[in-house]
Amino acid sequence: MNVKHGDKRFRVSARWVVDASGVNALLARKEGWWRPNTEHPTAAAWSRWRGVKDWDSRELAEKYPNWAAPVYGTRGTATNHIIGEGWWAWMIPLKGGDVSVGVVYDQRLVNFSQHGGRLGDRLKNFLCKHPVAREMLENAEFVEEDVHRRKNLAYYSTTFAGDGFVLVGDAAAFMDPFYSPGMDWISFTTSSAAQLITEQRNGSPLAERLENITGIFLLAIAVGSTLFIKISIITWENTIC
Ligand SMILES: Cc1cc2nc3c(=O)[nH]c(=O)nc-3n(C[C@H](O)[C@H](O)[C@H](O)COP(=O)(O)OP(=O)(O)OC[C@H]3O[C@@H](n4cnc5c(N)ncnc54)[C@H](O)[C@@H]3O)c2cc1C
Repeated sequence: MNVKHGDKRFRVSARWVVDASGVNALLARKEGWWRPNTEHPTAAAWSRWRGVKDWDSRELAEKYPNWAAPVYGTRGTATNHIIGEGWWAWMIPLKGGDVSVGVVYDQRLVNFSQHGGRLGDRLKNFLCKHPVAREMLENAEFVEEDVHRRKNLAYYSTTFAGDGFVLVGDAAAFMDPFYSPGMDWISFTTSSAAQLITEQRNGSPLAERLENITGIFLLAIAVGSTLFIKISIITWENTIC
């Protein structure tokens, strides 16, 4: 493997290469294994915000008693979601009072403005069509250096492992941030990779293990894909009704 670190370039060799390069998916792209997941064509825009209102404040409870009445717990320290036709958005409180706010939308159903003004402003305009976001973000400002957008979120690699390499985390696949499965996927793929490498080093034959790992990774993606599509449809249908 050729490594570039600052100005230095050198070659390293190892019995195993674990690709943990995230969305760059180095091996999958280089080897032609990378595929977009066209059945779940979503995109996302998100940012860190300052000045988002407090879900649990007296101001909002008095202004919107119907929002406050059904809730006995605190909402301000939790992840809250709002949804619309073809999209869902999150509000995640961060350390220090900032809030992560972003939207994931189906590119077939939602026309998220591509041009005109700053991405953070377009995100706010989009979200503020929803009454809750309009209230929560009324005085909020996005942090200019922390505004992001990614199209075609879902993808996968057709190969996950071979004799000497294994793909983990987003380098192997990405489905959808709904219900925050990212860390689960990282744990699942890294422990499978560690097991594969340990077994090989202990002298176990690889062929069967490689077949298993491909099978369980594909199964996880297929189940995840189906669930996300079903959950999204059910959620949107319920909302629209
Ligand atoms: C909009 C959105 C919201 C999300 N929300 C959540 C959430 O709420 N909860 C959750 O659990 N997950 C969430 N996720 C998913 C989560 O962010 C990812 O699954 C997770 O970050 C993947 O971790 P990773 O280590 O595989 O990749 P990354 O975190 O992307 O790490 C890859 C690392 O490799 C480095 N790298 C890449 N290429 C090279 C190279 N050529 N040389 C050297 N280094 C390289 C990168 O710099 C980076 O540091 C979200 C994802 C998106 C898109």
